Amino acid sequence: MGGGGVKPKKIPERKCLGCGEMKAKSSLIRIVRSPEGCIFIDKTGKANGRGAYLCDSIECFAKCRKAKRFDKAFNTPVPNEVYSSLEGLIGKSNG
Ligand SMILES: [Zn+2]
Repeated sequence: MGGGGVKPKKIPERKCLGCGEMKAKSSLIRIVRSPEGCIFIDKTGKANGRGAYLCDSIECFAKCRKAKRFDKAFNTPVPNEVYSSLEGLIGKSNG
């Protein structure tokens, strides 16, 4: 019994909240709402709380903001100032 096929490694994918495309988890940014209610960008990917994934793209962020998708993802109203502070951090990693 047995068989010796090597399974290809599966890259974990997540759906971008903005464009709705499935992308490699490592290429997305994770935004977390902590149990205390803080909303922040989780650079380690290990923070506790409810997470949402997004391309590191201001366009995807703008779509989320417009449709208030974070409110739905986090099941809580996200204050405008939180959107604004996140906006300042997105799309900056490439330069
Ligand atoms: Zn996207």
